[in-house]
Amino acid sequence: MITKLEKYSGKYKIVSLAFDQVSRDDLLEDNIDLLYISEKDIKLYPENIVVSEDKDVIDKLGHVHNYDVYELWENGKLSEYYDDSSLDNYFFVTAKCNSNCIMCPSPDVSRQKGGSTSVDTLIEIAKHIPADAPHLTITGGEPFLIGPDIFRFLKFLRDKFEYTEFLFLTNGRIFAIESYVQRFMENAPENSIVAIPVHGSTAATHDMITQTKGSFEQTILGIKRLLKAGIHIEVRIVVSGMNSNDIKNIAWLIAREIPKVDYVSIMAMEMTGSARINRDKVWIPYGKAALAAEEAVLVLMENGIDVKLYNFPLCVVKKEFWTLCEKSISPGKVRYAEKCEKCKMKNACGGVFAGTISMEKGELSAII
Ligand code: SF4
Repeated sequence: MITKLEKYSGKYKIVSLAFDQVSRDDLLEDNIDLLYISEKDIKLYPENIVVSEDKDVIDKLGHVHNYDVYELWENGKLSEYYDDSSLDNYFFVTAKCNSNCIMCPSPDVSRQKGGSTSVDTLIEIAKHIPADAPHLTITGGEPFLIGPDIFRFLKFLRDKFEYTEFLFLTNGRIFAIESYVQRFMENAPENSIVAIPVHGSTAATHDMITQTKGSFEQTILGIKRLLKAGIHIEVRIVVSGMNSNDIKNIAWLIAREIPKVDYVSIMAMEMTGSARINRDKVWIPYGKAALAAEEAVLVLMENGIDVKLYNFPLCVVKKEFWTLCEKSISPGKVRYAEKCEKCKMKNACGGVFAGTISMEKGELSAII
């Protein structure tokens, strides 16, 4: 949510929200900058100054929660960073990436020229997030592109969040360097899992999709090194028109080379950014993608490897695989078709991405 505090002019800062005195005093005790929202105004603490008396802004913020975290900009713009009621919160480290995946849901320009968040700001945000947050994701772009200073941030997370589960989304290439694995082990929070995509069973397919020569070798070596160090690993396979004939082979590669991964997630695409630009090459009907995924599921399960299906609506997947389907699309992005209203499985179904629904040509069908 984004709004504007008409009376604020000052530095960019991170603030928590409080709606009652108990939460306000709790945050003040921890030296946390905050906005205290009452029926008549919004005050910034510890300064104790009124930054808004606009009824519309107060009403808008009435729907958010104690301990949510916002960025407050110099011009008074207030934008949400952390939602205390959600399991889907993340630290966005950098938009830049050293791969250039053809079906990436981000646009080319952000991977090449996008901005980064400084480690000091990441730490400041983390200071505001309650220590009992159940799940936090570290993502980009490629988060490790900001360099070794990231370990200062990871160390802060490790020290503060004893019970939080952390998910790292990375292309894994940096972990081909042994010393990075060592530093990750020393600094990452205890309860971390690293999710790394494998796009093909060979360098030819994987590197064609990442458009980056050598990425397959680095990624597989990175996964092996992380596994050897005892780090938990999720392997992600995104099914596209570029690799649908290879999904089963990727499953065999995992079973043969990296069988100790915690689980494999096979995913349908989000058709935004580069994926949409390259849709003629990458789009594949849901039915075909599900078939490729199901074949790979059998290989993985027969080899004792746990597997999940992400972003697949239930009606395109055979019933025997439904228990593997996760409601994986975040609430802000999920969409259902008109015909879903009649579907008796709607509550269990994760729907489709907002950016993908226009690509679907009559494949969804209500289960009745
Ligand atoms: S019809 Fe709609 S709600 Fe039902 S399984 Fe398909 S996508 Fe999900």
